[in-house]
Order: sequence, then structure tokens, then C-alpha cells
Amino acid sequence: MIIGIDGPAGTGKTTIAKLFEEKYNIKYINTGAMYRALAYKCLQNGIEKDNEEKILEVLKDTKIEYVKKSVDGKILTSIILDGKDITEEIHRVDIAPIASDISKIVKVREYMVDLQRKIANEYVKSGEDVLLEGRDICTVVFPDADLKIYLDADTKIRAERRLEELKQRGISQGLNLEQIIESIEKRDETDKNKTVGALKRTENQKYIDTTNRNIDDVITEILEEVERIRKC
Ligand code: C5P
Repeated sequence: MIIGIDGPAGTGKTTIAKLFEEKYNIKYINTGAMYRALAYKCLQNGIEKDNEEKILEVLKDTKIEYVKKSVDGKILTSIILDGKDITEEIHRVDIAPIASDISKIVKVREYMVDLQRKIANEYVKSGEDVLLEGRDICTVVFPDADLKIYLDADTKIRAERRLEELKQRGISQGLNLEQIIESIEKRDETDKNKTVGALKRTENQKYIDTTNRNIDDVITEILEEVERIRKC
């Protein structure tokens, strides 16, 4: 089974995907991490986010891998860029807007989408269920996914969740809620207006507003869908 979850930042996609992996043994692929990894590499190499030629040159020479390991009953996924673990670095607040900008480049998207399909298909071939989360999973990467979900929530709630996550990671860098709201709104605008791979809802997709819902509640709703499809 392939499950796709799309939606803007802070709607709970990653939290839900991780819980699905731990509790229900569904392999999870965080597609945003790939764009963030490339953004991080560009930043490290002093490449401007609008220098398409250089970004594509860097991409040709880039290897992005996911490594999963089980630690105290939790499954941790590390993002490996050219052999180096950059899982913590890519969550920095300065990386997200660069990831959003470079993911506008059509050739970057083609490369990432190919990679996402390849990783997911390997899981499927070995008999595993897989859940991908991002912005274009249900529209571009796997438009025929068995289950397609769109998560949404009010901007303020999303910003509060993002700020809490940054605090927990110890990387909130004195940012306040207004600044996070502003950056989330800017990123939504970019993500919804890409010429290819724009964030949008699609047909046969379950829409879930997580604004006033807790995670367990949303998981239960998605699980009901999973069970329904498994029975078909
Ligand atoms: O999901 P996350 O916030 O980590 O994604 C970072 C950025 O990567 C998003 O704002 C979006 O611009 C881009 N992205 C994308 N397509 C995806 C996943 C993420 O364009 N499937």
C-alpha cells in the first residue's frame, strides 16, 4: 500500500508519519528532507538560491540517502548527504525558505520525484507499506496512491507547533510567533504557486483539518481509512 500525505508546514504530517512507522510498521519517507538537504548543500557552498545552473551542477554530484535505525523502540531516520549525517542541520530555520525556493526549479523536482519513487518502489517490492509526506505526493509523485490525504490547519496553530518543535530541538534562536507566522505564510505562498509540483488538493483525497484535533484523533481517522482500503 502506498499512502500520500500532502499539506502545508505545521499541519502534523511528519509527526503522524513517524507514528505510523513506529506503531503500524509503515515505512515513512519525508520528501521535504530531500529539498532541505540540497538547500543545505547550496548554502554551505555559497550558491545563491536563484542560480539555477550552479544548483543543477551541485545536484549532479549529490547523494541523498535515508538511514533508519531502531533506538529504544523508536525508529529514527537519518538524512545522509554525500555520506554525512545532516539530520539536525536541515531543521534549521534558515534552511526551509531556501528549500522552498530551490524546489521551484523543475529539473530539481524531476530529480527528487524520481528518487522518491525509486525509494518507495523498493519498499513496495520487498512487501512493505509506505507513506510519503510532502507537497506533491498525491498530485505528482503517486497520483494513484492507495490512500491520499491532505492535512490542513490554521496558520497561527501551525506557527505555534513549529515554534514548539524548534524550541524542543534547541534551535528557536529567539524567534517569536509573529516571525514564524510571517515565514510560514511566505512559504505557503511560494509552495502553492509553483509552476510544477504546487501544493494543492486533488480528487479522491481525504481532507483533514487538524487545527483543533490532537494527533491520536487524526491517526485514528487515517487508520480507519487504511483498514477500509486493506479490506477492499
Ligand atoms: O516539508 P518541509 O517543510 O520539510 O519541506 C521544505 C520545503 O520543501 C517546502 O516548503 C517545499 O517548498 C519543499 N517541498 C516540495 N515538495 C515536497 C516536499 C517539500 O516542494 N514533496
